[in-house]
Amino acid sequence: MSAPAKQKKKRGEKAWIETEFCSGCEACIDICPVDCIAVTTREPSAPFYNDKVCIIEVERCTGCRLCWEVCPWDCIVMVDQEEIEEVLPLVKAQSGHTSP
Ligand code: SF4
Ligand code: SF4
Repeated sequence: MSAPAKQKKKRGEKAWIETEFCSGCEACIDICPVDCIAVTTREPSAPFYNDKVCIIEVERCTGCRLCWEVCPWDCIVMVDQEEIEEVLPLVKAQSGHTSP
């Protein structure tokens, strides 16, 4: 039996959390080598079973994929940096997030 093919890290990738599926388990926070993931509280009105959700400060993400590998809910996706740059202003505007 041959070993499964390893996925190589691509240049310019960033991690992105599909927050609707995040359980807030914080496994990604524990493993991130640059501490760019934080846990926050969902809006009280959100129809989710868990009131916690993680968010990534994508500007600081190195694309190492460790969070992607460890997430038990497969809700982290690796996205091209250009794609993120297109949607980031919109996401920040919606969440009230501002860069440090
Ligand atoms: S890809 Fe690496 S640096 Fe980026 S959020 Fe995940 S663990 Fe942190
Ligand atoms: S590891 Fe996955 S499910 Fe757990 S907090 Fe991070 S993104 Fe959410």
